Amino acid sequence: MNQELSVIPAEQSAENKRGLTALRADFPATQISKLPKPTSRDGTKKHCDECGGYHSFPAIHLDYVGHAAVTHRLLDTDIEWNWEPLAFDANGLPLLDAEKLLWIKLTVCGVTRIGVGDAQGKVGGDAMKERIGDALRNASMRFGVALGLWSKADLDQSEQDKKPATSSASSMVDFLIAQAKKTKSHEDARKFWANTNKLLVDFPLDHKRLKQEILDHRATLPEEGPAPEHAQVPA
Ligand SMILES: [Zn+2]
Repeated sequence: MNQELSVIPAEQSAENKRGLTALRADFPATQISKLPKPTSRDGTKKHCDECGGYHSFPAIHLDYVGHAAVTHRLLDTDIEWNWEPLAFDANGLPLLDAEKLLWIKLTVCGVTRIGVGDAQGKVGGDAMKERIGDALRNASMRFGVALGLWSKADLDQSEQDKKPATSSASSMVDFLIAQAKKTKSHEDARKFWANTNKLLVDFPLDHKRLKQEILDHRATLPEEGPAPEHAQVPA
């Protein structure tokens, strides 16, 4: 928060801009992998010459940039890049939403954006690793990393199933509402809305519902103390 408010020197800001542009550069072919997407539920599995994997046929292949290549790009751009979970549970671990999705804040070159990741069907210890990798790829896309490939993958995916994007956006709102309801003062609730709104401004979710829920929650909070300007009025 303090970091966001602090003044960034001009040369730093120019460097950040260069970094943010560099993030969007195309990936070399060697860093682009083939992701198989079986087109039938009951296809037979066999070795695939195209991607070198073992999966059901028939299948299409999407070009994609994996977690490792994305991490390289982030490091190349900003050695101090960083991510953190959007929220923590009572034990201090990353909080998952009702659909077991992990929401994160990714900060690169002084800019913070939100991403979401799922476990891609993995379970146990691998599930969280997968969520983190997936969330980093997703948040990086919001910086334009491998955006061209993502757009194509999303288009292909949307032909098959439009549900994930919609349901994750709605589960995000539920998650945020639950977080907002934990605030115990008008000031905290206002701050929560301001921060959320700033971070998620271009995120396709129901901002109206979130705002209304926060207002409803505020209505249940105790009255606010006297505003600072009142306090300054002489008695
Ligand atoms: Zn294949």
